[in-house]
Amino acid sequence: MRVSVAGAGLGGLCLAQGLRGAGIEAEVYERDPAISARFQGYRLVLSPVGFEALRGCLPPRWHPLLDAIVGDAYGERLILDPRLNQIGELGPGRPGIVVDRHVLRHLLLTGLTVRTGAALTGYDVLADGKVEARFAHGDPATADLLVGADGVGSAVRAVLSPQTTPTDTGVRFVIGRTPLTERFAGLTRAFGSKIAGDGVSLLLGAMRFRTPPKEAAEELAPEVTLPDVRDYVRWAMILPPNGSLGATTPQEAVLSRMAGWHPDLRAIIEQSDPDNSTLLSIRVVEPRERWAPGPVTLLGDAIHATSPTGGNGANTALRDADLLRRCLIEAAEGRQDLLGAVGDYERQMFTYGAEAVRHSLDALPAFVQGPASA
Ligand SMILES: Cc1cc2nc3c(=O)[nH]c(=O)nc-3n(C[C@H](O)[C@H](O)[C@H](O)COP(=O)(O)OP(=O)(O)OC[C@H]3O[C@@H](n4cnc5c(N)ncnc54)[C@H](O)[C@@H]3O)c2cc1C
Repeated sequence: MRVSVAGAGLGGLCLAQGLRGAGIEAEVYERDPAISARFQGYRLVLSPVGFEALRGCLPPRWHPLLDAIVGDAYGERLILDPRLNQIGELGPGRPGIVVDRHVLRHLLLTGLTVRTGAALTGYDVLADGKVEARFAHGDPATADLLVGADGVGSAVRAVLSPQTTPTDTGVRFVIGRTPLTERFAGLTRAFGSKIAGDGVSLLLGAMRFRTPPKEAAEELAPEVTLPDVRDYVRWAMILPPNGSLGATTPQEAVLSRMAGWHPDLRAIIEQSDPDNSTLLSIRVVEPRERWAPGPVTLLGDAIHATSPTGGNGANTALRDADLLRRCLIEAAEGRQDLLGAVGDYERQMFTYGAEAVRHSLDALPAFVQGPASA
């Protein structure tokens, strides 16, 4: 069996690793010209389900390395005012493990065949039941199954399920990261909490690696090369609905909304890495109408993009990867035919994927402040 995976995000890479481990041939096609072409190193909180799915797709010899490069999610989940006084509570959080997306992607890439600069533009189902993927540049690729793991703007979804389109929630946020110095390490109450300002919310999260990733790989799995990333604070400011930055940089826009805030909070933004701050919009994709199982399927944000405030997009993409891996092993070992395996995957994925999107949308209002006044 041969599988083409469109998209080298967390979901696509996790699936490809899982298939590689099972001896199933998988090739990944990524639109970006290089894996590090855009900075994508934000912190993710993985649930026990997401983390187990990830482990299930990785070779067991890398499990000690995985355990070394994650951190523990903790936080009081308070609501604080801009001077750091408590004014409320966000409610109980879920247990979790924090990972850095950039580091995790490097681990997942190890040993895989990934063609970069390969933007999928469409596909054709051939007379023999196989599928041929077409790319903006380079030769087409034929496989028994094409998996669209190409994110919220999925080109595979545009052909497979054109009626399923992203919805813009109107919510915008600026995200960035700042080295976790001694000064910021003392802000423990603020990590995992919401700081509620005038029409905006600031969310802080600490990424503390149990072991620095580069050193951990050198010691525990020398065949893996991980980036030299140190502990940092991930910050995200949720802007008023439909807020824009104007002509300023992301940092200037955030600081302009922090007049009178606690000096440590302003310092986090002032000391952040300018190359790693950006404005993002929150778009969701809700899986609704199913299609008849065939040699093309979807995984991750391509079919169920959630709001990051739900903290479950990556978890759900990893769960998809592990489930699809297990279904495809059934087919490869002759206990199920390929279309039956794909159908089994899609039936389960549609149910929990829709639930993940609903959960993330329910969680959104708690993070968005005040009326539209951007
Ligand atoms: C700031 C932020 C914080 C988040 N925090 C959390 C969290 O704490 N917990 C959590 O569970 N989730 C979180 N998420 C969500 C999570 O990051 C996503 O749900 C997850 O990365 C989706 O993985 P994916 O593989 O489906 O898609 P992506 O990671 O988006 O990967 C898609 C890949 O496909 C490529 N691609 C796109 N088009 C094409 C094409 N035509 N051809 C080939 N390749 C293509 C893209 O370049 C990309 O590499 C967060 C998201 C953001 C933005």
